[in-house]
Amino acid sequence: MEEKLSGIVLGGVSFGESDKILNVFTLEKGVISARIKGVKKAGAKLKFASEPFCFAEFIFSVKGEMRTVIGASLIDSFYPLREDVFKYFAGGAILEFVRRFYRENIASEEEFLLTVNALKRLSYGDDDYLVELITFLVKSLRAIGYSLTVSKKCICGCDIEGKTFFDYKTGAFFCEKCNNGVGREINNATLKALLGVMNGENVERENKVRAVKLLEYYITSRTEEKLKSLEELIKIL
Ligand SMILES: [Zn+2]
Repeated sequence: MEEKLSGIVLGGVSFGESDKILNVFTLEKGVISARIKGVKKAGAKLKFASEPFCFAEFIFSVKGEMRTVIGASLIDSFYPLREDVFKYFAGGAILEFVRRFYRENIASEEEFLLTVNALKRLSYGDDDYLVELITFLVKSLRAIGYSLTVSKKCICGCDIEGKTFFDYKTGAFFCEKCNNGVGREINNATLKALLGVMNGENVERENKVRAVKLLEYYITSRTEEKLKSLEELIKIL
């Protein structure tokens, strides 16, 4: 049986002498894996379709549980990501997030559009990579059920100013009075940066960096998994 799916290559591992097993995030079936043959040989026709970030319409041959790529027509390679190390790591963090946290074999149009739009804006948009990364992470965490409560208002109704606490177990921000003892104190500028980015306001670079670091801390604490690309990006910020 043949199957035609639109998808983005998240990554792959070598298989045998010249094949790869790819992870592909598809619109129609969620994250799937598929074998692609001969792509490590020089001049392989489908080599482009085995590279991370390749967004294509794939044709698979399906036998039982196994899919093999037999054709692909490129929709976008998000080429500008390869010309800028910061964008490249930000894009890598997006792919890694999808691979780790989006469900296998379960389609989600919302998650797919979030991913495609984030990669498009990262490649061709005017906003910087930190804005795109923060936006993607906040929205995707919500999509997988790990929402952060990005709000200026504390549960007590006051505006959170001055001493600010973040509870990584619930993703909520608190004022000093309401902090339940488990929240970690953060710089108020970090919350302001998250709010500012989500509202499309200009935010100082330094504070966007704080926001990315907070998101990394939250993802690691909440999921007990580390996103390697995000860690690598933070090292060079
Ligand atoms: Zn409060």
